[in-house]
Amino acid sequence: MGIANIPEFVKRSGLEAGFELCGIATVRDHPELARFPEWIDAGRAGEMKYLESRDESGRLKRASPANTFPWARSVIVCAINYNSSPAYSTHEHETNAGWISRYAWGKEDYHDAVLRRLRQVEGALKAASPGLITRSYVDTGPIVERVYAKYAGVGWIGKNTCILNQQLGSWLFLGVILTSLELQPDLPAADRCGTCTRCIDACPTNAFIGPYELDATRCISYLTIEKRGSIPEDLREGMGRHVFGCDICQDVCPWNRKSPITIAPEFQPREGLVNPALEWLANMSEEEFREKFRGSAIKRAKRTGLRRNAVIAIGNSGNREFVTALTNLKTDEDEAVAQSAEWALTKLQKLH
Ligand code: SF4
Ligand code: SF4
Repeated sequence: MGIANIPEFVKRSGLEAGFELCGIATVRDHPELARFPEWIDAGRAGEMKYLESRDESGRLKRASPANTFPWARSVIVCAINYNSSPAYSTHEHETNAGWISRYAWGKEDYHDAVLRRLRQVEGALKAASPGLITRSYVDTGPIVERVYAKYAGVGWIGKNTCILNQQLGSWLFLGVILTSLELQPDLPAADRCGTCTRCIDACPTNAFIGPYELDATRCISYLTIEKRGSIPEDLREGMGRHVFGCDICQDVCPWNRKSPITIAPEFQPREGLVNPALEWLANMSEEEFREKFRGSAIKRAKRTGLRRNAVIAIGNSGNREFVTALTNLKTDEDEAVAQSAEWALTKLQKLH
């Protein structure tokens, strides 16, 4: 490679592609990954079977990147801020509107927006060093991105299990490029959570087993996006007005108080996604769902999941004006929606 300082070149390329942060880590089975098999065996991943992908010898791919990518020597970790509209908060008292996680408000699915930028960095690297092997991932690869983000100095893994950066906070999308290049790694980011436990205390479904450890099957993000069929009854009330994802353990984090605002056009909110009307979501047709969420991360929940979540949020709204809508939804052909409507109706009817 004809570049004197490759790490510098990589980081400059990352910034030019629009990332705010870019660091380098060595491909290694870092200690944080040792607990991953135990976490999987305890059933904490629920229905997210993709997390359990294994290699030919039966090892979890995510637990051993050195084995999964034997050619890889370094991981380039890039991060971009998606904090578009801090004026809104999960805690607003809204009785007829749901809450969609900030990361999904954007005009474009973040996977595409981040991958496009990663490809730009990958392209610059390959142009400078032909023959190089690279692989880029945004969330979908067999790699635990946040562990590499820590070792690349992008941020520390907070007690809420998110990556936190001292200047930018935690509203960050991560993208990684595995490369066969042996690059000088950055220093890992220091943990600055200290004695704080705000995120753990604020979680409405008690999803934290302890600091730095999440039971995904209790997390509202998992329940509203990944879980198919009905949601366990004991967790429905804790879901509050969430219809897609949850921001609470990041909203309460002191490191997000001064989080800057992004001007990236892809992450600016689509119309109707901040505080969306619950009745609109609960009664959404397949056609409208496809139209409204074309190219959006929200599609992952599917129409059935989004409607089910909206019905549960209606049950939690305390707003008796929804009784007629729920009575109609009780006989919905979608079983999860009908069952949730029955639960929601009973809940609202108990109100005085
Ligand atoms: S995202 Fe919400 S439900 Fe999940 S751990 Fe954080 S506060 Fe709890
Ligand atoms: S809320 Fe406190 S404990 Fe949780 S991630 Fe933020 S600083 Fe760490």
